[in-house]
Amino acid sequence: MLHAERQLQRRNTLRLRSRAAALSVIDSPADLERALAEARQSGLPVLPLGEGSNVVLAEELAAHVLLLRLRGCRWLDRRGLLRVAAGESWHPLVAWTVACGWRGLENLALIPGTVGAAPVQNIGAYGRELAPFVHAVHAVRIADGEPVSLSRAACRFGYRDSIFKHALRDRVVITAVDLQLSRDLPLEVSYPGLRDRLPAAIEAITPQAVFDAVVALRRGKLPDPLREPNAGSFFKNPVVSLEQAEDLQAACPGLPVFEAGEGRRKLAAGWLIEQAGWKGIEREGIAVHPRHALVLVNRGGDSAARVLALAAAIAESVRARFGVELEIEPRCYGSGP
Ligand code: FAD
Ligand code: NAP
Repeated sequence: MLHAERQLQRRNTLRLRSRAAALSVIDSPADLERALAEARQSGLPVLPLGEGSNVVLAEELAAHVLLLRLRGCRWLDRRGLLRVAAGESWHPLVAWTVACGWRGLENLALIPGTVGAAPVQNIGAYGRELAPFVHAVHAVRIADGEPVSLSRAACRFGYRDSIFKHALRDRVVITAVDLQLSRDLPLEVSYPGLRDRLPAAIEAITPQAVFDAVVALRRGKLPDPLREPNAGSFFKNPVVSLEQAEDLQAACPGLPVFEAGEGRRKLAAGWLIEQAGWKGIEREGIAVHPRHALVLVNRGGDSAARVLALAAAIAESVRARFGVELEIEPRCYGSGP
């Protein structure tokens, strides 16, 4: 139902001051139907919001924000096919599936956010991503409220990417995700740092041990948004041609370069930012985290304009020094989506 409280500062993990033109809390399919009808009537664009951990919100948002709180989780068969409502929190879901002995999501522990947002950027970490575990995504079209379902192939997942950032951007509200889990999938433990925290004998490694190791690694390295407001990695790792990667490596020994398929290479954005001298720098209450150069932290700056000004300065200096374009990862909303 339409909510009188339209402030969003406590509803985004960067804790940016922001106020929506309209806001509805979506607890049920009927709430969603009603809110979409209201948005059509007002002409405001619709902005679905989960836990606000991957957004930069302007101070005045000319949008009808839908706070997705749809709950529920049920097995569709006995072979690990699970339907989860969009408003469920991601990390508790991972913890529960692992505790039940299902494999697949253990490397994706402690990623903030909701289940409904997870397919949007095809969340990934520690050598795994969501895509292979998605069986289907269920959504409702914003234009007419009609339900649509997409198979994994139709979601066109890529590196931190999906159809929900392109052809279906601003066109659907995801209501549920069907996940296909497994009892016998080989564990992925090759990511640097992970193997060292696990038993030496490979057969002694359990999904729970991988989950625990990922949680410990993340807690040791990444700032907790509850204490240091942030939106995770602020820039995507740039993917460049093999030729450009080789030229850069020749000029900058130590540059981390990873295989990215199709003759392309992925560079570590955090390394480029650190080398450009930004680690620990603070401007107008927004800081580059002193331990993790890819994370921007709100230290009282509180405004999207200040975050984006710092981000632009960082991107400009990385471009000047390395000739590499940095792309912002969180979705930035101005006065309208
Ligand atoms: P929001 O921030 O609320 O929304 C993000 C985008 O998705 C918006 O464009 C929004 O409109 C859209 N959206 C949200 N819900 C729906 C819906 N139901 N239907 C349609 N569109 C929707 N990401 C990773 O991939 N890997 C990581 O390891 C990782 N670590 C992080 C660590 C920290 C400390 C933080 C703060 C963030 C991290 N992230 C990571 C980013 C973030 O957690 C994920 O992108 C997450 O999926 C966002 O979920 P959310 O509910 O907060 O989405
Ligand atoms: P890290 O271990 O310091 O590594 C830096 C970057 O190098 C990562 O972004 C990672 O790319 C890449 N990398 C390292 N080893 C790799 C390998 N063997 N193969 C391919 N790529 C490799 O990274 P971190 O910042 O501490 O984060 C750890 C993991 O959590 C990463 O997977 C990262 O994506 C994820 N994470 C994501 C966010 C977010 O908001 N998106 C925030 C925090 C953490 P990838 O990013 O492609 O893995």
